[in-house]
Amino acid sequence: MDAKILIVEDEKDIARLLDYNLKKEGFRTVLAHEGSSAALLAAKERPHLIILDLMLPGLDGLEVCRRVRMDAKTASIPIIMLTAKGEESDKVVGLEMGADDYVTKPFSIKELISRVKAVLRRAALLGEALQVYRAGDLELDCSRVLALVKGRPADLTAREFELLKALMTAGGKMLSREDLLAKAWGMDASLEVETRTVDVHIGTLRKKLGIEGRRIVTVKNYGYRFESK
Ligand code: CA
Repeated sequence: MDAKILIVEDEKDIARLLDYNLKKEGFRTVLAHEGSSAALLAAKERPHLIILDLMLPGLDGLEVCRRVRMDAKTASIPIIMLTAKGEESDKVVGLEMGADDYVTKPFSIKELISRVKAVLRRAALLGEALQVYRAGDLELDCSRVLALVKGRPADLTAREFELLKALMTAGGKMLSREDLLAKAWGMDASLEVETRTVDVHIGTLRKKLGIEGRRIVTVKNYGYRFESK
């Protein structure tokens, strides 16, 4: 994982500790030691996640959080807030302001890193769910579980949708029938007898996609691949 993390922390020892351990885990890091540069740095660096201390000189963490959320370029970046004990009410405000998680000082570095990973994982899943893929007049809208041809819903079954998604997201790579079974049916791909099912579904899928269905190319004695151009 080479995600980039912006660390906003005025206490140099803590900043160093975070920096060292995050790098050790394979993350890239950017550091800010006060609030006013933090929001600007977030817009410039576009990190995958921000670790944001609440008590900062200049702009405090809540204000930084607010600015990050207001700027369209940074609005979706996950934020983990660092709060000190006794800042319970700030914690609530922080979450209301759009922080994704918080960690109370003093924290264990192991705990913090596992939170970082969890928040990144959640963000990645969310990003994937909102993804839209396009090829010609064909559009796959994953958040609405919808395939559109020239803007009109192609009326796919859930299975056909998953098949098309597997093909479209494979980046032109060939997928075997077993691959497609595993992806769209989620079953153990060793069931020889089931692989013909894929062909049947590909057939109906192609029909429903009309001329765009030609993008699904048969790979003889193997499976299928998707042609985006
Ligand atoms: Ca501080």
